[in-house]
Amino acid sequence: MGGQNLSPIDLPMVITIDGPAGTGKSSVARHVADRLRFDFLDTGAMYRAIALAAVRRQSDLDDPRELEFVARHARIEFDWSAHPPAVLLNDEPVGHLLRSAEVTAAASQIAVVAAIRRQLVDQQRKIGQNRCRLVTEGRDQGSVVFPDAQLKIYLDADPAERGRRRVAQLRARGEVVDPAEILRQIVERDQRDSGRSTGPLAVASDAKVIDTTHLTQQQVIDSIVQMAREQLRGVT
Ligand code: C5P
Repeated sequence: MGGQNLSPIDLPMVITIDGPAGTGKSSVARHVADRLRFDFLDTGAMYRAIALAAVRRQSDLDDPRELEFVARHARIEFDWSAHPPAVLLNDEPVGHLLRSAEVTAAASQIAVVAAIRRQLVDQQRKIGQNRCRLVTEGRDQGSVVFPDAQLKIYLDADPAERGRRRVAQLRARGEVVDPAEILRQIVERDQRDSGRSTGPLAVASDAKVIDTTHLTQQQVIDSIVQMAREQLRGVT
């Protein structure tokens, strides 16, 4: 990198994609990264991996000091050669263990512990320094972790629609689900994500908000890719 004739391919760029659960952030971020040939960082997987460590140890999820201890002994890394990058917890690939209801609920409790957020925010910034073309998704990526990101997206959708998407996703995996219960969990997670004092779910002032309620996933991906390409053209 460097030199006077930077082409769009050389320019560092971070794209943050934040928003509540069920807006399709993960798939959208992954596809956007693929289309632009950027790396993809799933920060929720980091909170989930610590949650898995806590669940395995049968930790008290209401005890922040115990959770902090668990987090300090949980080395979270990514294998960047896998596609999408594989999450490792103390060298063990755990990606397939992170989506259970138990880990999902625990992750949302892990995410309110300020010391754990600091640990993961530091680690995410380091990843951003090493992977200079990055699509990163979470709750606080544009507002806290990468305030200077070149493109910030905030995806939103009506809670009822997010509930429907989640139900379809779980049914596609063969799970038997109660739609009312799923909606209740989504609203509860929204409240916990927005209400916490450190790194709450928030729209960065310079984020582009996309309401995905009536959009297909493809439309959302296309529009973010287009914004990124315009941004890249604008700086060359
Ligand atoms: O996005 P995902 O559902 O995988 O996130 C798992 C949990 O981690 C969520 O409950 C959310 O509160 C938390 N999280 C967070 N900050 C991030 C990413 C996820 O607090 N940057």
